[in-house]
Amino acid sequence: MAQLPRRSSPDHTADEPRTDLDLESVAERLREERDEARARLTTMTRDLEAVFAASTDSNADDEHDPEGQTIAYERSQLAALIQAAQDHLGAIEAAMLRLQQGSYGFCEVCHEPIPSARLDARPTARTCVRHAALLRG
Ligand SMILES: [Zn+2]
Repeated sequence: MAQLPRRSSPDHTADEPRTDLDLESVAERLREERDEARARLTTMTRDLEAVFAASTDSNADDEHDPEGQTIAYERSQLAALIQAAQDHLGAIEAAMLRLQQGSYGFCEVCHEPIPSARLDARPTARTCVRHAALLRG
């Protein structure tokens, strides 16, 4: 009688996903935050383009022109906001990837589970509170 091939099951994985977290709702929340961040980014990018278009129209390249200074200020403010939104979006996408890989919710420095209260407040947290200063994100 031929023996059936045994299905080998991985007994140990390097990273066991957190069982104390509702990973489904975390994923849901990250998806929502990602969509919001994307929408914000689209709006701000349009605004920035509008500012650029306005500065071309009024030919406000002259730095002594008060209008030109306002536009330059607006432009740098918007650029900073866009950068921040891009960073946030990147952090969300990285968290979603960790969720897929089963490493979500563990400190990247000491590999201890991150308290769920901290993850509630900051779903993109990559570290425990103790190591937050070491690794921003
Ligand atoms: Zn840590």
